[in-house]
Amino acid sequence: MREIDRLARAIPRCTACPELRAYCARVAREKRRAFASEEYWGRPVPGFGDPQASIWILGLAPAAHGGNRTGRIFTGDRSGDFLFAGLHRAGLANQPHSVACDDGLSLRGVWISASLRCAPPGNRPTPDELETCARWLDAERSALANVRVVFCLGGIAWNAALDLEVRHGFVLPKPRPRFGHGARFCAGGRTLVGCYHVSQQNTFTGRLTPAMFEAAIAMAVKESGSRAAGSRSSPRSRTAGPRGRSPNP
Ligand code: SF4
Repeated sequence: MREIDRLARAIPRCTACPELRAYCARVAREKRRAFASEEYWGRPVPGFGDPQASIWILGLAPAAHGGNRTGRIFTGDRSGDFLFAGLHRAGLANQPHSVACDDGLSLRGVWISASLRCAPPGNRPTPDELETCARWLDAERSALANVRVVFCLGGIAWNAALDLEVRHGFVLPKPRPRFGHGARFCAGGRTLVGCYHVSQQNTFTGRLTPAMFEAAIAMAVKESGSRAAGSRSSPRSRTAGPRGRSPNP
């Protein structure tokens, strides 16, 4: 079994944060009225995408009624609508929507995961929770051998990516490189590219526009040396997500 497949099985079983697990399970029981007939995932959400990815998109955490419902990160919520539409325009996804694990979405040259794998109350993870969950970033880093760019959605992901490289031997300069939209920082063999998070708060207010996202992801593609963009017709991986047991068959 590939290491990335092993992680897809192991992450949903993680119980390192009992309070977060209890919150996710409670959300899954109580549900939102619009999804009352659905069975929520209600567990930690693993990453998904192309195991040969050169670009690793790192978000904040699953949404309570998005990833925590569908079992796939950025799937079933407005943030995902914005993100996957942008990836589709860039030629990195075979379709512009992401509504469920069996919706046929495939990514090319891209892996997506989050700094925290359980949905946190108020979408606000604590520093302790992020530190505890960093174990899965370490494991993913080892499994994703071809990653050249970490595309950080927001400041929390940026700092998680920096800390990840530090844990693996990179010495940070002082002052610490700061997150910004379009920020770029070379941390050893990997380049961090910053992009405002695709949250509704940012996209509905115009803080992050589709054009801004396109420019940032184009920078990531260029930095990665990826040949993925512009190849919509031949996605590299089918991503069934954790409910299909193998995220990348
Ligand atoms: S937040 Fe991360 S470390 Fe904590 S229970 Fe969820 S998956 Fe495990």
